Amino acid sequence: MADDWQRVIIERWRYQFPKHFSFEFGPGWGPIMDELCRRVDAVLDDDWKDGQSFQWTQCKEKFGSGRFYNSGPDEVERHVDWAEAVTLRTCEQCGQPGIMRRDGWFGVRCDEHAS
Ligand SMILES: [Zn+2]
Repeated sequence: MADDWQRVIIERWRYQFPKHFSFEFGPGWGPIMDELCRRVDAVLDDDWKDGQSFQWTQCKEKFGSGRFYNSGPDEVERHVDWAEAVTLRTCEQCGQPGIMRRDGWFGVRCDEHAS
């Protein structure tokens, strides 16, 4: 079962997500995901919004940054690129400004969540 912050985003942009879906990253990136959904919604033609054509297939943390895989058209990718870039400077735990930490693991964390 997805956490509350996840359910809020998924319910807001219901047509963009498969029936059972969860984000594979921390809550600090929730606002980035929400904004990404909003930007995608703004560029998609209605044909893509039937609940099947456009779908996020996997949204996860990989090597410290966000990855947002989807079935959408090319114009979605520049927004995905934007979101990936923002995750690289946003703490995955809390959403405050962070930097990539390489301490046996990769992850973007603020000072508070670095250790
Ligand atoms: Zn933090």
